[in-house]
Amino acid sequence: MIFQKILVAVDGEPISAHAADIAAELAQLTGAEMAFIHVIDAALVNAADTGIQPDVFVASAKEDARKLIDDFRKCLPQQVAALDFVPIGAPLTEIANAAKDWPADLIVIGSHGRGGIKRALLGSVAEGVMRNAPCPVLVVRAKT
Ligand code: AMP
Repeated sequence: MIFQKILVAVDGEPISAHAADIAAELAQLTGAEMAFIHVIDAALVNAADTGIQPDVFVASAKEDARKLIDDFRKCLPQQVAALDFVPIGAPLTEIANAAKDWPADLIVIGSHGRGGIKRALLGSVAEGVMRNAPCPVLVVRAKT
């Protein structure tokens, strides 16, 4: 069996929900274990203009992440077990690190598929993960 540990990166956007569905289907087919990861973006925690204390921000972001992951967990087929990771840091770095540490043998991730100036300004988490991942990456691209 090729894939035994599938890490899926979720951020609350519809495309990552689609990626989670595909990961769950794959896990069911291969008998793989799954883990959800949602990274609390350190850049947001430390943003000076939010006016929110960092510890308050982190507590609230952790609660939101648990809810997000619980909602995905409820949709999993009964036989698929899933862990969750909620690190704080830069999303692409933390996703790649979790894949190394767990360790995952497949990462499933969404992508808005932005191009041109939008990608230059906003960057691409999926692209960064592909460059840093220790294992294959399945990118689920939004329909354009
Ligand atoms: P992109 O559109 O290439 O920037 O990639 C977006 C995808 O990266 C999302 O669909 C998620 O799968 C993943 N992603 C973005 N931010 C996070 C985050 N904070 N935690 C976990 N996954 C994330």
